[in-house]
This record gives sequence, C-alpha cells and structure tokens, in this order.
Amino acid sequence: MKKALISIILILTVTLIGCGCNDINNEYDGHYNYITDCQLAKAALLQPFAKCNVTKCETGYYALASKILYYIEGSTMQATPLCNKPNCMHNDESCNAYVGVVDDIFYSDGYIYYMESAGVDHEFEGSSFMKMSADGSQKEEVLYTEYSPDDWIVHKGKLYYCVKKYLVDDNTGLDDINYADCYIYSYPTDKSSDVNEVYFAEEIEKNAQISSLTAYGDNLYFHLYGMKRYNDKIEVVKSLKLNLSDSTVTETVSPSGEQISGPMYLDGMLIFSSGEEEDGKHLYYKTDFDGNNPEKFISTYDGENIICDGKYLYVDNYIALNLANHIENDDSVNKKERYIKVYDSDLNKVDEFSLGSDSAKTWSILPVDDKVFMFCGKNNDGEFIFYYDKSEFGSLNGTVWDKEFAYQSK
Ligand SMILES: [Zn+2]
Repeated sequence: MKKALISIILILTVTLIGCGCNDINNEYDGHYNYITDCQLAKAALLQPFAKCNVTKCETGYYALASKILYYIEGSTMQATPLCNKPNCMHNDESCNAYVGVVDDIFYSDGYIYYMESAGVDHEFEGSSFMKMSADGSQKEEVLYTEYSPDDWIVHKGKLYYCVKKYLVDDNTGLDDINYADCYIYSYPTDKSSDVNEVYFAEEIEKNAQISSLTAYGDNLYFHLYGMKRYNDKIEVVKSLKLNLSDSTVTETVSPSGEQISGPMYLDGMLIFSSGEEEDGKHLYYKTDFDGNNPEKFISTYDGENIICDGKYLYVDNYIALNLANHIENDDSVNKKERYIKVYDSDLNKVDEFSLGSDSAKTWSILPVDDKVFMFCGKNNDGEFIFYYDKSEFGSLNGTVWDKEFAYQSK
C-alpha cells in the first residue's frame, strides 16, 4: 500500500513538474516521442504470440497482467497495482486498477488508454475507448462506438481506430459478415471535435479488413486485406501509408515493386519486412522516416523474427520454436535453443543471449525501449511481470540472460 502511494505521489509530482517538458523523455530524437506518439511497445507487434501489454510513461511503465493495471517505477522496476483504495485486494472489479478484458493499453500524455467492449450476457453492445488518469484515480469514457474496432492507436493527441461496417443481406435484412466497408476514423482524446473519417477502403469489400495500424510522424501505416470490390475473385493485399497532413495514400513497396509490411522504428528509420528472399533468407528493407527511399537492410532465416526498440534491432527465433513445438512433440525440437541476437542501427552486433529455461523458449518478450525487455504472465504462484535489464548488453556473450521480477503475486 505504502509503495502504491509513493508511486502515485511520484507520478503526480513528475506529471506536474513535467508538463510540457520534452526533456524528461530522453528517447526523443527529433522524429519520435514516446510520450505523445504511437508507442513501439504494442503487443500486436508480436502477433501471433503476443502475451504482453506494457506501455511506457515518463517515469516508468504500465503493465496489464490478468485484468489489473500495474505501475512499474522506472528506477526501481518495482510494480504495484494502480490503486490507492484502502484495504483493496486488487483482484476484482471494485479495484481502481481493474480494467477487465482488453487487448492493449497505451500511455499518452498523462493518460492510459484502453478499449472495453460493452455487453450484457455476452451480447455485443459496442465498444468504449476509456482513459485512466496516470495515478489510476479517475476513469473516463473518451468515445463510444457501436462497432468493434479491429485495431486502434493513440498518436499525437488523437485516437485512430479501424472498423468494419457489414453490408446488409438483401434477402434476410441481416448483416452479411462476409462483406464489409472498412474505415479508419480519428477522434481527439480531449473530445474537442467530432469523429473524422480519415480513410475508406474503397478497393475491397468481401472479407475486407484493415489491420496492423501504426503511426510515425505525420504518417499512418496499415495493412489492407480483402477481395476486390465488384470482382471478388481478385485478392488485394497492400501495405499503405496515409499522410495525415495532406491525406494522400500511397502503397509502400520495395524497389522492385513488391509488397512490404510493417513498419518498425529504428533510430530515425523505418524497417519493413518483405516476402522477397535472397540467398534463402528473408529480406528486410529500411526506409527513411517517412517511409520513402527503400534499401535492403538485413535478412533472416526461416522462423526468425525481427523486433526493434528504437535503438536496437533483435533477431529472435521464437517463431521457429513455437511452430516446431506445435507441429511435433519431438525431443530434438524441444532441445533447440532460444537465442536473441542484438544489433545496433548500423547492424554491428552488440550481443547475443539465450533465455535459458524451458518455459522461456517460446515466450514473446516485448522490446519496450532501450532499457528493458518485459513479459507479463501467470505461473503457479499467480500473476507476474518480469524484465530483462538492457544495461547488461555487451557482457552476455551468448549466455543465459537472467530475468528479474517487477511483480509476483503471492
Ligand atoms: Zn485495488
């Protein structure tokens, strides 16, 4: 309890002192600001094995573990439920830190955002975007929508979200879930103006979906999938960039015109994956911060995944291990090592480490920022949040990197 109060006082103090000061945020490099921009630490980055919801604030992090929101103080890395209710057990809906079943949390400029689905008796009744004050004492609905957004982010004071509006079947008068119009809308988080349509996917209709929404600077990036409108034999798969200043939409492609997807942010540039191969390895491209001037960057073996934290790039083989474990329960597969190689933005190798224990083999850990990797989960003792300290880079040399606990319920 004491810890919680101290954390809250700390947050309040820093929030008050820190209002409008960019210098708290030492990651800001002129392109990208953790505090106001769409955060890198997005669980969707790790799909299909995402198991972590962490978002970064000026003084530390917020993490979601089993429906309870925790504040992790950045210098001590100790987590406490974001709740100052006396005698609260922090384990049910009466707890201030309770946010229910949500997919993602985003910290932005003093608030933690999340999306709740409203419903009674499992009947879907729309979605509410919520914001919680940094100390957890206040919750407020930002926006209610009757739809179920497929993806959403908070970027530079605005909420951006993708929705599917199903077409109505002429015969039955009911929604036809195979056909939809897809939109991206924006809404200011201070509610100062109306919902605005920023994009309509005119090209697709059957099985239509917009996904992988992210934003850097003035650009919104997303994926388009579906069958072509008026000709549903033709598949449309595109990675698009919408410039928020002039509303132009361009397809992001490799120099040879092939589709590429992403992006991830790394030290002033954007990294895109591609379906192209070179010497049997998968090719990644880098572009400038606006997604222009693509060049070959790095290539990886099958089953290796690339993630970035803004400063470092990681080559991680957890996908290979996950797939191998799903396909066969073979001892030779289970003995394979989980390794993660660390590179800087010039592709100099910084370090390499293993995650050691069997249970860590297939975990997707979130790169968060240049200070910590994080993971939230549940073991026999209950919920836990652990982290790896990146200040140890340079000394790991392929050895097992020991995790440290920010929280373990008892
Ligand atoms: Zn509580």
